[in-house]
Amino acid sequence: MMDDRVVELHNNESTPLLLVEDEFDMAQEISLALQQQGYAVQIAETEGEVLAATRARPPAVMVVDRMLRGTDSLAMIETLRGQGNRVPMLVISALSSVDDRILGLKAGGDDYLAKPFVMDELVARVEALRRRASDARVTSLKAGPLTMDLVDRTVQRDDKLLSLLPREFNLLEYFMRHPNQIITRAMLLEDVWHYRTLPQTNVVDVHIGKLRRKIDAAGEPSLIETVRAVGFMLHVDS
Ligand code: CA
Repeated sequence: MMDDRVVELHNNESTPLLLVEDEFDMAQEISLALQQQGYAVQIAETEGEVLAATRARPPAVMVVDRMLRGTDSLAMIETLRGQGNRVPMLVISALSSVDDRILGLKAGGDDYLAKPFVMDELVARVEALRRRASDARVTSLKAGPLTMDLVDRTVQRDDKLLSLLPREFNLLEYFMRHPNQIITRAMLLEDVWHYRTLPQTNVVDVHIGKLRRKIDAAGEPSLIETVRAVGFMLHVDS
């Protein structure tokens, strides 16, 4: 049974929820209720498993039991928040006093539900957190000297407004959403050009050439590096 501690159920349509709960029966019960609502659920029992799971791919929502193997998981939540984790988090706990709830929210929880709870309420609260997060849409991106306004569809390098064609804008947006990651030509052909099949074409290189001439400063290395034989990378200092 212990080998089932990390249970991954894949749902291709949505980012999984991460359930952090060390009591097996409780974890199964919550997981089942969420799956019935169409969520994919990953279960973690220890801080190590949580860190591994959140590093791999940020979950849509985290449900975190406050007491894990006898330790208060609020410290773990504070650590995650300190590391920049912004995943909406519902803390569940048998500690139900007002002070406990306040501590949970101050540690970085977005919501707090006292045990025992009605399963429908947990599901509704998870749903509310998920909805709120997707409503808070990103309206601008920043990478190094570049700032992109996704509403006005404008780009600036420092204070200078750049004039990009629509395809160049989409291409740069893709790089700015994946800074310091290797981007292959195939990824760009699929995700920016939306090709179903990958034609033999130099269209990516041509557009990257044009984009570089617009975003790069004279005499400086290009912000978009060529990664030999692989693709490209928008290199920015974080
Ligand atoms: Ca527990």
